[in-house]
Amino acid sequence: MTPQGVTFDGGASVIPLTPLSRTGRQAYPQGHLYSDIDGHLKARRTAETNGSFLWRVHDKLYDLTPYLDFHPGGREWLERVRGCDATEAFEAHHLDGDKAERALSKFYVREVEPGEFDCGDRFTYDADGFWRTVRERCLVALKGAVGPSTSTLDATSATPAMQIASGMILAQFISTFGLACVSGSWLAAGGCGLTMAGMWGVGHNYLHQSEKKAGWWPYALNVVPGINAEEFKVTHALSHHLVPNLKADYESRFYTSNGKHGFTNPEPLSLRYWYMKAAFIPILGAFKGAGTGIKKLVAGGPGSAWLPPLFPAAQLGLYRAAGNSWRESLKLWMIQMTVHTLAFVPFALGVHHNAVDPNDDGAELISKQGRSTYSWQEGQPGGVDDFGEHQVISTIDHSILSRQQHLPEVLVHWLSLTCFGYLNDHALHHLFPALDHSKHAIVRDVFEQTCREFKVPYQERGAIAMAAGFHRYVQNHQVVPLHSISKL
Ligand SMILES: [Zn+2]
Repeated sequence: MTPQGVTFDGGASVIPLTPLSRTGRQAYPQGHLYSDIDGHLKARRTAETNGSFLWRVHDKLYDLTPYLDFHPGGREWLERVRGCDATEAFEAHHLDGDKAERALSKFYVREVEPGEFDCGDRFTYDADGFWRTVRERCLVALKGAVGPSTSTLDATSATPAMQIASGMILAQFISTFGLACVSGSWLAAGGCGLTMAGMWGVGHNYLHQSEKKAGWWPYALNVVPGINAEEFKVTHALSHHLVPNLKADYESRFYTSNGKHGFTNPEPLSLRYWYMKAAFIPILGAFKGAGTGIKKLVAGGPGSAWLPPLFPAAQLGLYRAAGNSWRESLKLWMIQMTVHTLAFVPFALGVHHNAVDPNDDGAELISKQGRSTYSWQEGQPGGVDDFGEHQVISTIDHSILSRQQHLPEVLVHWLSLTCFGYLNDHALHHLFPALDHSKHAIVRDVFEQTCREFKVPYQERGAIAMAAGFHRYVQNHQVVPLHSISKL
């Protein structure tokens, strides 16, 4: 049976974006969606609290200014959402919700008046609903495993084995890059491109965590052109993670819409266009990063985080410094970067949120729900209100290596980080983004049990089926123009 809204004969079609009962936030003003991050946050503040300096959580406003330096997650996370509706961020990042609510209540200012800031439908967080239940049970399981006297911050942080595995990933990147520089070998440059997937894994894992705990690890992401850890905290952690697959999801819009993201191609998304985009990300990203780094240095002085955005361009300089000609250096650099993006981007960007059902054993289930993709997307029937349920139905897991618990722990984490491990347990990662990947195994059983109990359709698919499914998604869907999204 052909799922509704998709043609499988190679012709382009558009996912029917009909309004749903649950559509989450309104899309942010179009002009800001793909521009600079400051513009994006400014647009959110205007839409969500009319430019207030207060923080909104649920239907209350708070002034967290005196708490900035005491926030266990670090002051920067609070500063980023100042003036925003931080409800989803507050819920998702505090596994011990009761404790966080008690801390928050000390900074209460006033209630939000009915209709005062109307920024779209909202998720629900009922005490006996799926989200609150699964969060509480996972906290109990975690504290049971690490010891009840351990603080939640320590309980959710990386294990020593994860720290060692992360160090191994960094060492393998530096050594393969060094080998490529010294040997001038194209093969070594390509190998280094593959090791960059591990750097993604490491950077992404720590990026979501307390800035006091994560240290410099998030900057591992910066070796990849076009990715700046500081921007990624907004576009990924504070947008995509909190409203996945909704029109306000910054990241999903990047690859499913024709927004201003460096390309202004008005044509429908085509396979060639999409993969071309992936191939050109290195060049554009390196230039953008160099510009960002220089801008930060000029504006903030030597103390600002100006160096990490320059990492990709600096790698080109290091090829030259190792004695390769400029022409040869550029070739080696391009091989390294495009091997990385072509091996990684098509798989990593959309596979857990956009893959189309390739008519495997999940076809019946999906078509019964009136969907065309494994995961629920805005515009399809079956939207849900509960925050946690939404996270699960808009995400599909795959499992390759992270469940090989018979192997030594360091090896499990190393394999997981190296081989797309950051994408395993994706539903759990979406529910509890600040929980280190090394702790997923502790809460996995209680999570799956709670899904069964609440009849939340958690799904797992084979990695190959999902990669093929994303290819099919790109092949069969027209890109959705942004103006039609924001009109809905
Ligand atoms: Zn993430």
